[in-house]
Amino acid sequence: MVWQRSVIIKSPEEIEIMRQAGRINALAHETVRGMIHPGVTTAELDAAAEQVIRDHGGIPTFKGYPGPYPYPATLTISVNEALVHGIPGKRTLKSGDIVSIDCGTTYKGFVADSAFSAGVGEISKEAQRLLDVTEKALQIGIAIMQAGNRVGDISAAIQEYVEDHGYNVPREYTGHGVGRQMHEAPQVPNYGSAGRGLVLRPGITLAIEPMLLAGTYKTRVLPDQWTVVSADGSLTAHFEHTIAVTENGPQILTIFDEDMD
Ligand code: MG
Ligand code: MG
Repeated sequence: MVWQRSVIIKSPEEIEIMRQAGRINALAHETVRGMIHPGVTTAELDAAAEQVIRDHGGIPTFKGYPGPYPYPATLTISVNEALVHGIPGKRTLKSGDIVSIDCGTTYKGFVADSAFSAGVGEISKEAQRLLDVTEKALQIGIAIMQAGNRVGDISAAIQEYVEDHGYNVPREYTGHGVGRQMHEAPQVPNYGSAGRGLVLRPGITLAIEPMLLAGTYKTRVLPDQWTVVSADGSLTAHFEHTIAVTENGPQILTIFDEDMD
């Protein structure tokens, strides 16, 4: 029998710290978003995100994250068929690419985790549709984060919406609880059965992160041991927010605050 780690409920004060971490993370994302143009290297995007996080008293959560070897960067940058965990480097973005940017910020001991995907220059209608469906799948998952609903309700709603649009979700990579650790219980798969799993209650904080593949659900890991790509080379996209369940419904903690600079 496998024992699930128990879920850690956050106090309103802890959620407030996570919101601050989330604002820093969102500012890093907005900075990167403004730099996504043909010709920019993924290393340049990574350096800019790290600067924003450190300037605001945060720590890049991903850097040094344990894996096959410690993760070497602030962002994961995953281009086209790369779904998640792409390592920034010399690669130059070009018009027509779609790029997924994932970032984590640790601030005062708490983590915020969010991701977005965007087109570079002009992208195809098919690529734009994939981005739109992925972003909408995230909104659908968040809307279900009401006290009394279950984790399986989130999973099932995302899977149904995605598959109704002709796309697939991976089986090996999931959303998750988040707090003092980036990955806490419970896992939040992008597939599953409604009515199953943990009952949501105020103080639960989750990273909901639909990852979509335009082809089959199968993935593989590149020889760099981090980058996950679609097995069939099809396009992929990824959106993520950190969200708290509250008495008043879901609150997104990784929203961009226009007043921050
Ligand atoms: Mg993430
Ligand atoms: Mg995550």
